[in-house]
Amino acid sequence: MTMIQPGATIGIIGGGQLGRMLSMAAANLGYRSAIYAPESSGPAADVSARWVQGNYDDADALQAFAQTVDVVTYEFENIPVAPLESLRVPLAPHPRALATAQDRATEKAFVQAIGGRPAPWAVVSSREDLDAALNLIGTPAILKTRRFGYDGKGQARLKQAADADEAWAALAWEPAVLEGFVAFEREFSILIARGSDGATAIWDPVLNVHEDGILALSTVPAGLAGATVEAAKALAEKIVTELDYVGVLAIEFFDTDEGPVFNEMAPRVHNSGHWTIEGAVTSQFENHIRAICGLPLGSTARAAPRVEMRNLIGAQAGDWDIILSDPAAHLHLYGKGQARPGRKMGHVTKLFFD
Ligand code: AMP
Repeated sequence: MTMIQPGATIGIIGGGQLGRMLSMAAANLGYRSAIYAPESSGPAADVSARWVQGNYDDADALQAFAQTVDVVTYEFENIPVAPLESLRVPLAPHPRALATAQDRATEKAFVQAIGGRPAPWAVVSSREDLDAALNLIGTPAILKTRRFGYDGKGQARLKQAADADEAWAALAWEPAVLEGFVAFEREFSILIARGSDGATAIWDPVLNVHEDGILALSTVPAGLAGATVEAAKALAEKIVTELDYVGVLAIEFFDTDEGPVFNEMAPRVHNSGHWTIEGAVTSQFENHIRAICGLPLGSTARAAPRVEMRNLIGAQAGDWDIILSDPAAHLHLYGKGQARPGRKMGHVTKLFFD
């Protein structure tokens, strides 16, 4: 890949908070950002040079947008792959990563094939499949839509086989996978950057606490066993190598007595990597921009012995003045208007040196 020089324009598909933080990192390196998104505005609008409104499946509009930028990337994974594949402008990460991560069955099969370990799982395309899957996997289990799930949406839990009708209806009879319930100690994620030259850089694993299916708190270091960290990092390296990936990729794991169990991956920058803005030498956003522009990756070393990132969900963002009474708090607000319940409005990061 040829190097995209500072001064060039980066096209970002998606205009939410991840697009906002990518644009800010791009600006620090001397790039301009243009956003393509279906909404008329969004968090990335305040910090980017241009906003183009268009649907994700509008191949002509996307092509026209791509023609005005030097490289295209995305901050959102639920976008159709076909229009991206025909773009006549450099695109990173490659849409094959999107295609893999968009379908839970494809994703799990891929990870299994390269030696990773997901929870026991089975494809469920019909009510009869669900019975067969329950026979195979048992309960408790979780039924998840194959596509378009996020933050615990598109999921139903089954305590017993008798819950099958209700669970199948809760997913609106969409193609799904049934997963065995993993008795995990904790959840963690790995963020990895891969440059266009194949060089990789991994940040320290992140311990993640979810509330109501939404990430609430990320802490580094994660306090994991050394062998778990090694296994998770090795899988991360394999995933990006297999996909010939360029950019930042996030992988979520369950930590169990028998080592890391793969949950899911996101072919993009990720909420559990926000701590890297102040907590690492190079943030996930900067390394994503460096990677897609063909620049060398920056160091992922931690900037403090301990780092904590707390999400501000819904009304919690209203406490910004209390948060700022702590002079060591790094407050990030995303410029979203309405603080609806469950909406990610911002986050706050703290570095600890004691
Ligand atoms: P997901 O959207 O797949 O990340 O699921 C949302 C949350 O549900 C995860 O962060 C876990 O806390 C929980 N969860 C998902 N799958 C499983 C599983 N197979 N076993 C136990 N808990 C799960």
